[in-house]
Amino acid sequence: MEELVQRIKEDGRVLGEGVLKVDSFVTHQVDPNLMEAIGYRFAEVFAKSGITKVVTIEASGIAPALFAAKKLEVPMIFARKAKSLTMDEELLTSSVYSFTKQVTSQISISRKFLSSEDNVLIIDDFLANGQAAKGLVELCQQAGATVDGIGIVIEKSFQDGRDLLEKMDLRVVSLARIASLNNGAVEFLEGDA
Ligand code: 5GP
Repeated sequence: MEELVQRIKEDGRVLGEGVLKVDSFVTHQVDPNLMEAIGYRFAEVFAKSGITKVVTIEASGIAPALFAAKKLEVPMIFARKAKSLTMDEELLTSSVYSFTKQVTSQISISRKFLSSEDNVLIIDDFLANGQAAKGLVELCQQAGATVDGIGIVIEKSFQDGRDLLEKMDLRVVSLARIASLNNGAVEFLEGDA
């Protein structure tokens, strides 16, 4: 997605350890117009898939997932990283090791929001080693739901995430694919959409 690639070139900042900082338009301050364009692109790609729910993880997946869900006219569910006192129902849970925070956390969704009738589009902001996406897939599986595909805003293709998900027979659609972040520079591969 050209608009996204341009924005990364202009405003993305490479940190050490293979981390891309995009806090001025995705992960902290959020650009609503760009998020809308991203969400609508995912909706376009999955328009004929019969998606019934869009599932993401708080916090930075919520903006693109919400716009995709709006366009697909289905609900968006975000997995929570901390258990809320108001979550008194039965929960689907899985543990996820965070690449950026280097801690393992439990993620959860109330069981009542997903069922075996659902065909899910998973969306997340970044794909690195695939642990967040895998955790979301596990939540869907616990509910007996089908995962139709995974939409990623920024994939770091030099890490193992795509490989892991494709080995699970999952369709991965990334709007920007990064080949490397070496020497402070962002090198891109052709994106999927
Ligand atoms: P994974 O689970 O695929 O290893 O990592 C994905 C999660 O880690 C994303 O949800 C995102 O929050 C975070 N993440 C991974 N790599 C980066 C990065 O380079 N920059 C930022 N800002 N977040 C990242």
